[in-house]
Amino acid sequence: MNKKTTALMRLYSLLERTAAPWPVVCEKGCASCCTTHVTMTTLEGQAILDYLFKAGDKPVPQNQGLGELFRPAITTNGLARCCMERREPPVEQKPDHFNPCPFLEDNACTIYPVRPLGCRVMLSSKRCRAGGYAEMEDYWLTLNQVFLQAVEALDCPGKFGNMSLVLKFLDSGQEEEALLTNEPVPGLMIPREHQEDAGPVLAEINRILAGAMG
Ligand code: SF4
Repeated sequence: MNKKTTALMRLYSLLERTAAPWPVVCEKGCASCCTTHVTMTTLEGQAILDYLFKAGDKPVPQNQGLGELFRPAITTNGLARCCMERREPPVEQKPDHFNPCPFLEDNACTIYPVRPLGCRVMLSSKRCRAGGYAEMEDYWLTLNQVFLQAVEALDCPGKFGNMSLVLKFLDSGQEEEALLTNEPVPGLMIPREHQEDAGPVLAEINRILAGAMG
């Protein structure tokens, strides 16, 4: 495993430890958020491809890329940069229709150990099925953004986009114009009221990033 992939796994593990005390109701078999709208970086995509290879060179699921895919118009750090420069971010349109994630089988994730951060940050304090959306504390949202910013920075100058398109790009080696280029962190999006609580997690994130990029 190279340094960046090791750092990615450490960030995943840190998020898991950080979220452990939170009253999350998500559990195996609950897959409302497992759709073709998931986004990720190429570093995360390569970890998935490596996992499939180790599992007997399993192919990337055939239905990838079908249906209406969400194509983000800006990365997380790009959004942070817009905020800092007081500019409006580009308008994003999320298709109303989507398919189940191609890695979902019998309502369970077949790549669970290497699922991307976009899946890991979808934590809900209430059952999503009833209301149709996840409910998260403001502090969770803040930390989720910080982790997304960190993984994007770790994967500079890699790409970011819809999970299916990132996998297609990595698997085929062909350019995919819907993908965006990752950016470094221009500043962290942490509201003043969360700064003290987030301090220890931020320090650990910085240590992980410094170890991989220093
Ligand atoms: S990768 Fe796994 S956790 Fe993520 S959306 Fe797909 S099935 Fe769900």
